[in-house]
Amino acid sequence: MINKNENPCIICVAITGSVPRKENNPNLPISINEQVESAQESFELGATIVHCHVRNDDESTSSSPERFALLLEGLRKFCPGMIVQFSTGGRSGSGKERGGMLHLKPDMASLTVGSNNFPNRVYENPPDLIHWLASEMIKYNIKPEIEAFDLSHIHQASNLFKTKKILKNPYVQFVMGVKNAMPVDKDVFDYYVKTVNRLLPESEWCAAGIGKFQKVVNEWSIKNGGHVRTGLEDNIRLDENTLAPSNAALVKISIDLCEKYDRPVASYIEAREILDLAPSY
Ligand code: ZN
Repeated sequence: MINKNENPCIICVAITGSVPRKENNPNLPISINEQVESAQESFELGATIVHCHVRNDDESTSSSPERFALLLEGLRKFCPGMIVQFSTGGRSGSGKERGGMLHLKPDMASLTVGSNNFPNRVYENPPDLIHWLASEMIKYNIKPEIEAFDLSHIHQASNLFKTKKILKNPYVQFVMGVKNAMPVDKDVFDYYVKTVNRLLPESEWCAAGIGKFQKVVNEWSIKNGGHVRTGLEDNIRLDENTLAPSNAALVKISIDLCEKYDRPVASYIEAREILDLAPSY
């Protein structure tokens, strides 16, 4: 059982994403083997959720269920116990393609519950698609992680939960620092936390800061009792002049922050208990 007073911190590593390329950082894992190796290194350090996208051999984005199946197989083999979260985000596919791999039954999947702007386009999440993705997650017993790009998304998550369109208490992630979407703003962050606690009192929350804001958002989350997301998907640098040598190097930054604020890093067993996931798969 978890000692609630210790409040272990869950570290999620977003290993690849759909935006960065090797020309931006050659250490970005692209092939399935590279992804599994990078996840394993992060897992051994203390990351317990791996947020997954898949790519084609030419690094272009993919939503291929076959690729996701290979990745899942590798992760189950080399990172036993690690929580596998598939992205259903809109940069890797469109429409129902985005959920075409959910039948593989990862532990979790991301779910964006509203639309907003991205750097160069609209990130479209129409209600019928959201409801379909949510129903697939119910069908395959997958816990959703709500990607809150906006305050209204936290309200939407609460509505979906109250109307039983998502059965499992959602895990809510605040995404801050995407260009043209919600910036990294401490007042907004504090209000997000307050709103989750009010509308979804049983829910756990975490936050992701994009680019150079990754560390500061990690720090706010750890200090305020939430969980964190790090990884090369969101940030390819250690600092202004240094490319991150690996996902694990970014995980290490989160671990050091946990130490600074006296938060133990959650083991996969603790993370599964905190998130109400099956202890094994
Ligand atoms: Zn992602």
